[in-house]
Amino acid sequence: MTKLTGQCLCGDISFEADGDVPVMANCHCTDCRHATGTAFATLMFMKQDDVKITGTPKTFQHMSDAGSTMTKHFCSNCGTPMFAQNSARAGMIALRAGNINEHQEFTPKANVYASSKMTATILDDGIPAFEKMPG
Ligand SMILES: [Zn+2]
Ligand SMILES: [Zn+2]
Repeated sequence: MTKLTGQCLCGDISFEADGDVPVMANCHCTDCRHATGTAFATLMFMKQDDVKITGTPKTFQHMSDAGSTMTKHFCSNCGTPMFAQNSARAGMIALRAGNINEHQEFTPKANVYASSKMTATILDDGIPAFEKMPG
């Protein structure tokens, strides 16, 4: 994997990430749609230790429907959604692919929470779609 770099709209928050990306997926759940204001979230989960964050994102915590604590990190100046953490995936952090400069590195392997996708969203038949979150 190429080293990944990215930043928020105003540039106050930036990151460099270097390491494996074991999970790359589009999430269509209602929480992700609200948190991003987009049709679905483009998530790249990496080890937290492989991601170096510059600047201090503001955080917001909420409960997932599975009962885990979700932490959203966003820029307090421009509002760009930056990172997401799930207490069920300790030590991992999700980058949002839309913020990454090397965006060609985002090759989603699955669509998750397809059951709550927007009617207008067309899923790629070439990758699996899960009604909820697999396993
Ligand atoms: Zn910003
Ligand atoms: Zn989601």
